[in-house]
Amino acid sequence: MTQENSNAGQAALMQIQIIPVTPFQQNCSLIWETTTNKAAFVDPGGDSDQLIAALEHFNLTLDRIWLTHGHLDHAGAAQTLKEKYDVPIEGPHKEDQWLLDDIEAQGAKYGFPGGRNTRSDRYLDDGDQLKLGEITFDVVHTPGHTPGHVVIYHQDAKIAFVGDVIFQGSIGRTDFPRGDHQTLLDSITQKLWPLGEDMRFVPGHGNMSSFGQERKMNPYVSDSAMNRA
Ligand SMILES: [Zn+2]
Ligand SMILES: [Zn+2]
Repeated sequence: MTQENSNAGQAALMQIQIIPVTPFQQNCSLIWETTTNKAAFVDPGGDSDQLIAALEHFNLTLDRIWLTHGHLDHAGAAQTLKEKYDVPIEGPHKEDQWLLDDIEAQGAKYGFPGGRNTRSDRYLDDGDQLKLGEITFDVVHTPGHTPGHVVIYHQDAKIAFVGDVIFQGSIGRTDFPRGDHQTLLDSITQKLWPLGEDMRFVPGHGNMSSFGQERKMNPYVSDSAMNRA
C-alpha cells in the first residue's frame, strides 16, 4: 500500500465544513477531497441556495449526496441538489424510504415548505462503504430514532456523521412514528462505542463531541448511566 492510498493518507486529503440549515439548524456537512475538489453533502436538509453558494465558494464539484435518515431537516434539499448536479443519493437504510416519501407532508405539518420527496439511489447497511474520490467511508445501521438511520464514519480521520442518533449531552428523540428508545440505546452502545473513544462526531444538531466524552458525560448513555439501568 502506498502512502497516497493508505487510510491515514486519506484523512489528510479531507476537508469538512459544517453548514447549519433549516429552521431546525440542522448540521449539513460538506466534505471534500482536496486533491480533486470532489465533494459530498451529508444531510442537505434545506436552504439549497446556501449549499450551492458554499460549493461555489470553495470551488467544489458535487459528486455524492449522503443521507443519515429520512427526516425533512436532513433530506429536504436532496432531490433539488440531485437534479441540479446529476449526482446519486446514497443512504439511508431502506427502512427509511417511507420517510423520504413523506418529506412534503412533513414540511406542511411542521410549517416549513420547500423540502421535496426523494428516492435513494442506493440503500445502505452495516459494513457498506462510501467512496468520495480516493477516500473511503464506512457505514453502520443505527436504528432507534428512525428504523433506517445510518452513521457514516472514517476510521483513521476519526470523524463520524451521526445524524440524530446522539448529540453532545443528549440522544435522539424516539417519540416519532417507528422510533424506539431501547433500540436507540443498543445502536449507540453496540454500534458506535466500538468505533473508539477518540472518534469525534458531527451530530445533526448542536456542537461536535466525541464518543469518549459522551461515555463520560452524557446523562442518557454514559457508562455510569448504563450501569445504573
Ligand atoms: Zn431526525
Ligand atoms: Zn434532525
